[in-house]
Amino acid sequence: MTVLIDGLSVKKTLLPQLKDTVDTLYKEYGVRPGLAVILVGEDPASQVYVSMKHKACLQVGITSYEHQLPADVGETGLASLIQRLNEDDSVHGILLQVPLPKGYNETTLLDMISPEKDVDGFHPVNVGKLLLGRPQFQSCTPYGVCQLLQHYNIDTDGQHVVIVGRSNIVGKPLSAMLVQRSSPGNATVTVCHSRTKDLPSITKQADILIAAIGQPEFITADMVKEGAVVIDVGVNRVSDATSGTGYKLVGDVCFVGVKEKCQAITPVPGGVGPMTITMLMYNTVDAFKRSR
Ligand code: NDP
Repeated sequence: MTVLIDGLSVKKTLLPQLKDTVDTLYKEYGVRPGLAVILVGEDPASQVYVSMKHKACLQVGITSYEHQLPADVGETGLASLIQRLNEDDSVHGILLQVPLPKGYNETTLLDMISPEKDVDGFHPVNVGKLLLGRPQFQSCTPYGVCQLLQHYNIDTDGQHVVIVGRSNIVGKPLSAMLVQRSSPGNATVTVCHSRTKDLPSITKQADILIAAIGQPEFITADMVKEGAVVIDVGVNRVSDATSGTGYKLVGDVCFVGVKEKCQAITPVPGGVGPMTITMLMYNTVDAFKRSR
């Protein structure tokens, strides 16, 4: 029987535990961890993500500071807000919601966030520390994937992990995490991308196959080894006339076919997605602890 790796239920287990930690910290220090989220413009998907983050903060007892700025605030205005938040002692984590509207230099602005408050783990200092095996803040989605593996006792030691996707926010940091001399880690990691030749011949070698591609149902059953663990990071909207919204969410893995073949699999939605926000909460609490 295939195990369904249920990120939603892991989130429901982890967030109350984190709330207990926050309550204890509050008793000790008389202050709560604070997360500032900056949203520029009115991208509907970003608005949904920001409100989900706000809700998670409330659940855990983190103070949430929302900064909603008009799309034409400009880089100077945005930079001065980031600077102000860097210096604000009540703010322990800063998150700049991406993508930014056209015309903004995302990299420059993300790099302005203090590495000590970079709870998204995107700052070059934090990426470098991760690579060196001295993690400070780990990028939330790959960190969430590692937590899921741990929670379901999926041992990565000596396993061949194939990651399809080499983005800076998922594929690359995940490969850095799983190759470390640690647990989870000690994996033999192969990273594939759009220039990889004969992709199925590589994915079929995976003990653990992780898809972070952004192509709906791209990984089909014939690309998966019998008994593999399959982690689907992808979130894709595809039209669906039967749904009230006119669309549905699917992953990068063709769930129905692949499920029959593998040992364990994450669904979309409800797999990796809930873990991303959970790890953001963890990183924010961690930032608070480090600031003390
Ligand atoms: P990117 O678009 O930044 O990267 C996609 C990667 O997939 C690239 O490395 C690209 O290769 C590779 N790729 C694209 N097409 C192919 C192909 N045909 N064969 C092999 N490799 C291919 O995406 P992200 O990493 O940001 O996101 C990936 C998916 O994960 C998306 O669906 C996104 O929505 C989802 N996501 C989910 C999150 C969550 O919380 N659940 C969080 C973040 C992302 P190349 O580099 O050569 O172009």
